[in-house]
Amino acid sequence: MCAIVGVINSEGAAKTAYYGLFAMQHRGQEASGISSSFNHHIKTIKATGLVTEVFSPASFEILKGNIAIGHNRYGTAGADSLKDAQPVAGNYALGEISIVHNGNLINKDEIRRKLVSEGAIFQSGMDTENILHLIARSKQEHLKDRIVEALNQCVGAYSLLILSRSKMFAVRDRYGVRPLSIGRLKDGGYIVASETCAFDLVEAEFVRDVKPGEMVIFEEGKDEFSSLEILKAAEARICAFEYIYFARPDSVVEGKNVYEVRKKLGAALARKCKELKADFVVPVPDSGVPAALGFAQESKLPFEMAIVRNHYIGRTFIEPTQEVRNLKVKLKLNPIGAALHGKSVVVVDDSIVRGTTSKKIVELLRHAGAAHVHMCIASPELKYPERYGIDTPSVRELIAANMSTDEICKFIGADSLTFLSVPELVEALGGERKYSLVSFDGDYFIKD
Ligand code: AMP
Repeated sequence: MCAIVGVINSEGAAKTAYYGLFAMQHRGQEASGISSSFNHHIKTIKATGLVTEVFSPASFEILKGNIAIGHNRYGTAGADSLKDAQPVAGNYALGEISIVHNGNLINKDEIRRKLVSEGAIFQSGMDTENILHLIARSKQEHLKDRIVEALNQCVGAYSLLILSRSKMFAVRDRYGVRPLSIGRLKDGGYIVASETCAFDLVEAEFVRDVKPGEMVIFEEGKDEFSSLEILKAAEARICAFEYIYFARPDSVVEGKNVYEVRKKLGAALARKCKELKADFVVPVPDSGVPAALGFAQESKLPFEMAIVRNHYIGRTFIEPTQEVRNLKVKLKLNPIGAALHGKSVVVVDDSIVRGTTSKKIVELLRHAGAAHVHMCIASPELKYPERYGIDTPSVRELIAANMSTDEICKFIGADSLTFLSVPELVEALGGERKYSLVSFDGDYFIKD
């Protein structure tokens, strides 16, 4: 998962992009970067680390101009973070270009093998670089047509922003798996971002979402943007995991506020757990808070913040090795003994991936004196690796792919364990449209 942002026709575009990236830090903490175009030259700054660590006031002396794109990278084990930091910039026949990408091209290896056999040299392991090569090799006269030609060879889930010297192109794959929204800045410029929480920070107004299969073209000095259907739009399938975990609760994804959806997921869990006897509901902060609140409101049980989160630590899942992950859960979460002693508690979290977090939490709660720990998860069992940009682990590591619910309950040491079913998830999401549910149902629908 990653965050992308683009700003055009706005003074200090790179600074606005920076704020956008700051608002979307939760989507990736491994590396960050911004490209901006000024005087027909594109400059890029990127490095590993958080947004505030990568950029300093001096960065914006370099990143001048009214157009900029930016990216936060979400880490995957083993990848070379610096080499794989975005934007990916280059020079080709039509000049300078820079690309940021959220998603995953499933035919990336095939494309890369072909390009390499034809003599291409790659600088990184990223599928985004494939797109750059395909654009550079296209014989089309205009960049727009080169992008269309390149993307018609790519299969996968992606939201993209492409910067040329004077234009910015925003594209979503034909299923619209990853989000991408357009906002209007107060000075008349535009901002395009993975999540609408980026708009709130820079006081931009939401205009609309980029549609599946659509290319939106913004041009320097032009007040209106244009739109082309470049990929045959399929039935839209936004990723359900955006609502469950990834997006910030204050974002609106495809017309639905994430906070409201999470509360509904929690309420659905509460209806499922009517028989549970507990003194109160405890969220796993921060990811489980809205669902726990929904659970408490539906069940009429009190809501207690009996686990405290240390905010100065990144998301534990993102750490590549199991040892570091184990320690980080403890570094991040600490239960309040005085509130928990002798109590029966319902603990609500958004998901179980490997089981590391839940196991540790149950252990910490019992150590703090909790009498009973009922773990309630506001999503179904994650049984299939996501291949559309989330980078969930292999089947071997996904606990629900290898154990039954009872076995997981035993493994994490809880008194009971409840997941939502896929139909319950879909109903809470609204049921009126299709979602990407691959992690739960194994329906890898992107084939063509
Ligand atoms: P685990 O400890 O491996 O079971 O991971 C579960 C925790 O990681 C949950 O508390 C989630 O909030 C979080 N999480 C779930 N899915 C992801 C993901 N794809 N990337 C990062 N964190 C995740």
